[in-house]
Amino acid sequence: MKKSSLIYLAVGIILAGFVLYMVRAEKKIERTEFLMDTIVNSVIYTRNRRQGVNALSSAFGEMYRLEIILDRHHTDSEVFVLNRDAGTRPIVVSAEALDVIKKSLQVGEQTGGAFDITIAPLINLWRFGSADVYVPSENELAQTVKLVDFRRVQVNNNDGTVFLDGGGTELDLGGIAKGYIVDMAIEALLEQGITSAYLDAGGDIRVIGEKPDGSAWRIGVRHPRDRRGIIAIVELRDKAIVTSGDYERFFVVDDVRYHHIIDPKTGEPSRGIISVTVIAPDAFTADAYSTALFVLGLEKGMEIIESLPELEAIMITEDEQVHITSGLAGKVEIRQ
Ligand code: AMP
Ligand code: MG
Repeated sequence: MKKSSLIYLAVGIILAGFVLYMVRAEKKIERTEFLMDTIVNSVIYTRNRRQGVNALSSAFGEMYRLEIILDRHHTDSEVFVLNRDAGTRPIVVSAEALDVIKKSLQVGEQTGGAFDITIAPLINLWRFGSADVYVPSENELAQTVKLVDFRRVQVNNNDGTVFLDGGGTELDLGGIAKGYIVDMAIEALLEQGITSAYLDAGGDIRVIGEKPDGSAWRIGVRHPRDRRGIIAIVELRDKAIVTSGDYERFFVVDDVRYHHIIDPKTGEPSRGIISVTVIAPDAFTADAYSTALFVLGLEKGMEIIESLPELEAIMITEDEQVHITSGLAGKVEIRQ
């Protein structure tokens, strides 16, 4: 064979190898959209671009669909109707709404009422979500606290109905809706055969598998007092991680910070903790417990979370000290 033919052959083999590599290589597909009042970012790795794009479309489709069902401010939502007709009649709701309400009531029981989806009257009183700030009087707080009790929510599994027992009872699923919706989107990705993905809905994160190079997904936990800083890094595979912080929605009056995570017993923003991150098998559980632990405080919060083997937590107290559960020892990188 001539020398030039040999060179052509070698180049041909290298090119073919390259083409084969490109076809078989994992492609990174990303999609970012604004929904659920936050930035939702997703990354998936797949060899089949079309499969990836389709999977992301169905995941985002699920998120748009569920957002409308669970948002109490949306006049087409089931929660809006439940709240409007509180105390008058049971309402037939979708399987998803029934599911999320039942799961929320369970966490309410497990946390002694620290997590309570009937928190809406208090959120309304403090006017969170509106532009004008308001600090309620003791009397207003005392009156409104009486309306908050998750035991007023009656679920009838046979009829598929929910009844809010008592006028003035109102649901606010803000403490768990994002987590639940992230789970449903992840289910959609799994159904489409995706084996490597990252989904972040404004801090409610869940991952599938690991990255194509075999490394875990590295997730940064935001520093609660430094907008751009990271206080901890956790490596995760097939898990969810959710953070609740007093910096997400708050206002300051006379040097006092009033934030959106309310202690149902006092009616006031819960004090002592400034950030809680929970790692769980699913985003619903991580979301519910991050809100609950915020209210429970360091001691009770740690006690509950240590009793649940599948859950881990990072709690940051007012003095900016980082506290972790025993299961995270040696597994989390703290940057202080
Ligand atoms: P998260 O950021 O997940 O902790 O959720 C905070 C949101 O949950 C608030 O904006 C309220 O809509 C709602 N919320 C506040 N306090 C509670 C509570 N004690 N139990 C359940 N939901 C709450
Ligand atoms: Mg939450």
